[in-house]
Amino acid sequence: MSSIADNINSLRERIARAAGRTGLDGNAVSIVAVTKTRPAEEMDEVVLSGVDALGENRVQEALSKWDPPAPRSSVPWHLVGHLQRNKARKAAEIFSCIQSVDSLELVSALERACLSRGRRMDVLLEVNIGEDPDKFGVSKGDLPLLAEGLLERSTTLDLKGLMTVLPLGLDERRTRSLFASMRELRDGLGSRLGIELPILSMGMSDDFEYAVMEGSTMVRIGSAIFGKRRS
Ligand SMILES: *Cc1c(COP(=O)(O)O)cnc(C)c1O
Repeated sequence: MSSIADNINSLRERIARAAGRTGLDGNAVSIVAVTKTRPAEEMDEVVLSGVDALGENRVQEALSKWDPPAPRSSVPWHLVGHLQRNKARKAAEIFSCIQSVDSLELVSALERACLSRGRRMDVLLEVNIGEDPDKFGVSKGDLPLLAEGLLERSTTLDLKGLMTVLPLGLDERRTRSLFASMRELRDGLGSRLGIELPILSMGMSDDFEYAVMEGSTMVRIGSAIFGKRRS
C-alpha cells in the first residue's frame, strides 16, 4: 500500500478515536485533502484512496490541475484559501464549494459568476475566531450581518456552514475553547436564521483531533496525508 493510502487510514483511525473521546461519531467527519503545491498524480492517488473532497488555496493553481475525467476531478473541489473578487468567475468554473467567503462584496461577485454560468455553489463563511490580524475571515461580531446579507441578496449560493483557521501555537485549552466557540456560533446562527448549517469546517494536520472532539464535521488535511510541504 502506498504511503498516501496508509496516511489516510491512520487519519481515519485518529478521527474515530478523537470523536469517541467526546461521544461523537468519527464517520460523520468528512476529509478534505488539501493539495496545494501537490502534483496532479498525487491528487489522483489521494482520490483513489478515498477522500470526500480536494481543497486548493489558489484559483490559478487549481485550474492548472483540473482535468476531467482524471480521478482527481471526480470528487468535489473546495476553495479553502482567500478568494479575490476578480477571481470569482474563474473559481465558479471548477469549485463546488467556496469555504472562505468573508465579505458581502465577495458574495456579490460569486452571485454574478454563478448566474452567468447558470449554476449553484455551496459556500461557508470564514470566521476569524482567534482574532488573528494575519488571518482572513469575518469577526464573530460581524458574522450575523454577513449571513443575513448573503441570504437576502443571493439566489445561487447555498450557505452550508462555517469555516475557521486558528492562529498558530495555541495550547490545548485555548485551541479547544476556540473550536467550541465555533460550534456555538454555528448553532446560534442556524437558529437565528432558521436554517440548517450542517458544516463546521475546522481542524488541520496539527489540530484536527481537538477540532473533532469539539464537533468539527469537516477536516482539511494537507501535511498529515502528503508529508511536509517544502515551500
Ligand atoms: C494548507 C491549509 C490546510 C491544510 O494544512 P495542513 O497543516 O498541511 O494540514 C487547511 N486549511 C487551509 C485553509 C490551508 O491553507
